[in-house]
Amino acid sequence: MASTLRLAGGLLAAASVAAGSWLPEIVAKDVVVIGGGASGAYAAIRLKEDFKKSIVLVEKADHLGGHVSTYDDPKTGKPFDFGVQTFNDYGPARAFFERMGVPVDAAPRVALTSQYADFNSGAAVSFTPPANEDRVAALGRFLNATAAYEHYFLPGYWNFPAPNQIPKDLLLPFGEFVEKYQLHAAVNQVFQITGMGTGDMMKSLTLYVLGAFGQPMIRAFLGQGATFTPTSGRNIALYEAVQTRLGKDVLLNTVSADGKNTIIVARKLLMAIEPTPANMEPFNLDFVEQSTFAKFKSSSVHAGIVSHPALPVGVSVVNTPAAASPANYVELPKPNFNVRFDYMGGDLFRVLLVGDDKFDKAKAQDLVRQNFAKLVQAGTLQPASANPAQELQFRAWADHGAMHMNVPAAELKSGFIQKLYALQGRRETWWTGGAFSVQFQAILWAFDDILLPKLLA
Ligand SMILES: Cc1cc2nc3c(=O)[nH]c(=O)nc-3n(C[C@H](O)[C@H](O)[C@H](O)COP(=O)(O)OP(=O)(O)OC[C@H]3O[C@@H](n4cnc5c(N)ncnc54)[C@H](O)[C@@H]3O)c2cc1C
Repeated sequence: MASTLRLAGGLLAAASVAAGSWLPEIVAKDVVVIGGGASGAYAAIRLKEDFKKSIVLVEKADHLGGHVSTYDDPKTGKPFDFGVQTFNDYGPARAFFERMGVPVDAAPRVALTSQYADFNSGAAVSFTPPANEDRVAALGRFLNATAAYEHYFLPGYWNFPAPNQIPKDLLLPFGEFVEKYQLHAAVNQVFQITGMGTGDMMKSLTLYVLGAFGQPMIRAFLGQGATFTPTSGRNIALYEAVQTRLGKDVLLNTVSADGKNTIIVARKLLMAIEPTPANMEPFNLDFVEQSTFAKFKSSSVHAGIVSHPALPVGVSVVNTPAAASPANYVELPKPNFNVRFDYMGGDLFRVLLVGDDKFDKAKAQDLVRQNFAKLVQAGTLQPASANPAQELQFRAWADHGAMHMNVPAAELKSGFIQKLYALQGRRETWWTGGAFSVQFQAILWAFDDILLPKLLA
């Protein structure tokens, strides 16, 4: 996207799209949606089909889907999802799949043997995960301690309390919250499933850990809620269906510098991307927008698929600090880290990395190589005798960029959420996505359901 000029009462946007003549095409629409991930793709369908608005969905990648990454293994033709794993049966989720003609089944449970090792040293760690009944009891306490606050942030912060009325528990660093409610036996699961995205999870505010592993997830792991995936085993199938359905109303590859320019004139702008300085650069933010977004910190997340004969089939090699031995559940890897080498099938292993805002693809892949080399040197992984020098292969990679945008407790107590939400509708611009809600697909769709009538009012 080259640049965007936002005008009062209307919007003029310029998106460069690959190929074609040098003459800019002019497109006039009711709403332009920027970002074709979970929140943008869902909003585009609803605006077009339910609210009968003319729209254009602008996506910088060559496909819709954002954090959904499906790898179709060329060797076997089998699909492997290495980004989004499952969808919560929450709000409009099931109906959305049905509407898009994508059949779903209960999410498969994959049982892997876990092997624990400190990825900094490569040494095996003797670690005993909590007994199942202790884990379930701790999750139950987690749910009891937070259920009353659910409506403050799910599916968005619409009902968030006034700055001086925010429950103290939500502002506690998660480590203190764990101590207060004796949740130690749940920490491992919270971190391994989705909590790792917050980075240094035990220091993250409880509010933000709930944004990464909230009540719908707790219920799913207590057997009180469900998760599902497409029957085809390809999560991207949902977004392929959205793309087909929206047809020419989707502009892809919009960051191409030398493509054709499309001028979009629209009454309203719906931003469905993380409001990082880099993402916001083309959108000529005003002082209020800039100074609000400047408060955010975020993690950077990467996921990939690697292969090497030394990686053990059927096993998840879990990054576990030596200090976690034998059963110290609050000792977790600190950013930047690779969470695990997880067996996926065939000769493929998933890696999942979280780091600070400078943790780019090159750094993330270097860390994976270093972790792997240490594990081999320490004898935790046995190199295949036929070719011990064989390098780790990167088979697929997704740079998920900035996620889990957060501010310190002091900012929340100064009314940050209220200032953030005051941006809704300013300059004919509306905001959806993880920074305005939480980091789950289905919850973002429910968030859009609340947002869209406001946008159109
Ligand atoms: C590895 C991983 C696993 C996850 N697993 C799950 C899971 O199992 N279940 C679940 O519910 N959630 C999961 N999540 C979280 C979930 O995917 C996110 O919460 C959700 O995708 C956020 O949606 P969004 O619309 O805010 O952003 P995104 O889905 O990231 O979409 C943003 C889109 O905007 C595009 N974009 C960015 N900048 C521009 C620009 N300037 N112009 C045009 N387009 C732009 C991006 O390319 C992207 O397609 C996972 C996330 C990751 C990273």
